[in-house]
Amino acid sequence: MIEFRNVNKHYGQFHVLKQINLTIRQGEVVVVVGPSGSGKSTLLRCINRLETITDGELTVHGVELHNKKTNFNELRRNIGMVFQHFNLYPHMSVLDNITLAPIKVGGVQKQEAVQIAMYYLEKVGIPEKAGAYPSELSGGQQQRVAIARGLAMKPKIMLFDEPTSALDPEMIGEVLEVMKALAHEGMTMVVVTHEMGFAREVADRVVFMDQGQIVEEAAPVEFFNNPQEERAKLFLSRLL
Ligand code: ADP
Ligand code: MG
Repeated sequence: MIEFRNVNKHYGQFHVLKQINLTIRQGEVVVVVGPSGSGKSTLLRCINRLETITDGELTVHGVELHNKKTNFNELRRNIGMVFQHFNLYPHMSVLDNITLAPIKVGGVQKQEAVQIAMYYLEKVGIPEKAGAYPSELSGGQQQRVAIARGLAMKPKIMLFDEPTSALDPEMIGEVLEVMKALAHEGMTMVVVTHEMGFAREVADRVVFMDQGQIVEEAAPVEFFNNPQEERAKLFLSRLL
């Protein structure tokens, strides 16, 4: 579904992603961990081409991102992204936030878009908030709306960039539950998170990044119980 082959990315002189090789299969849940500034967000943003790579090859759902002739519109439609700060449109109702892209980008009729939106609002557990505005919701509810909005485009891949980092502790669980359910339904997911419990329980693989490199890649049990690399050991020891 996603394949990085010797991918490098620079921000000007700064070498932010170094020789990345990573293959993610359909239905896999990969959790990306690592210190702040290690390149986790940049890695995610390359997948939906919010950032372009400098060299190497990156293929996502059969689309070659390194190929200048590629049409990226369909790619974006196939990838949903959820950010730390929800990024809902504050002046639009929950329903309008969710139906906007399906109508404008997906070419779906309004009535059908509303049905789809309600389906996903049910799924994230807050159908009664359809008419509310983002400011009337808790952080956890806003993030669940953001997930429903991503799902409404029926993506093949969902990317999550620290989706619970801006939430009060009591709201983290409700968002992780929604993500867990999505994982169990077979969604291909790449999740940057500091929630190690989620990584242990839900991830098929953990990818540890440091200074722009993938330093270690392992099943969660192996990564958490028996990290191989010094930098991974140090990172994990600091979490305790
Ligand atoms: P992480 O998500 O792991 O914290 P990021 O991918 O956000 O890391 O950033 C990796 C490095 O790239 C950081 O040193 C950051 O300052 C730098 N960086 C991120 N975005 C930009 C940008 N648009 N221009 C220049 N440097 C950037
Ligand atoms: Mg980040």
